[in-house]
Amino acid sequence: MAGEPQADCLFCKIAEGEVPATIVRETNTTVAFRDINPQAPTHVLVIPRVHYPDALSLAAAEPQVTADVLREAGEVAIQEKVDTTGYRIVFNTGPGAGQTVFHAHAHVLGGRDLQRLV
Ligand code: IMP
Repeated sequence: MAGEPQADCLFCKIAEGEVPATIVRETNTTVAFRDINPQAPTHVLVIPRVHYPDALSLAAAEPQVTADVLREAGEVAIQEKVDTTGYRIVFNTGPGAGQTVFHAHAHVLGGRDLQRLV
């Protein structure tokens, strides 16, 4: 059920400490950890502890937690010192957009010149 931990979800397991990750920040509602396949010098994922398959289903059910994810993405940028040069927050949504893990997550990318996407 949405909102409940999913036995087969990698990011639920990371949130619960069952799968190791390089955690850079944690709150009561979120966990931020380094992407295993970084696409930039700073590449951190921020996830809600609750399980929803993507950012918009999280936003519909848990607007406060969605705000927590976004705020934490900004805190990661400050902690990683990419806030002054610029960084990108990305929510890949759906397979066609490259989403591969169906537990909502924000990518925080920075530390290199990021090509304009839009
Ligand atoms: P998506 O493609 O937007 O769903 O992003 C999923 C991200 O999770 C990818 O950038 C992967 O590199 C990353 N990833 C997959 N497995 C792990 C892991 O075990 N630890 C950290 N990051 C992971």
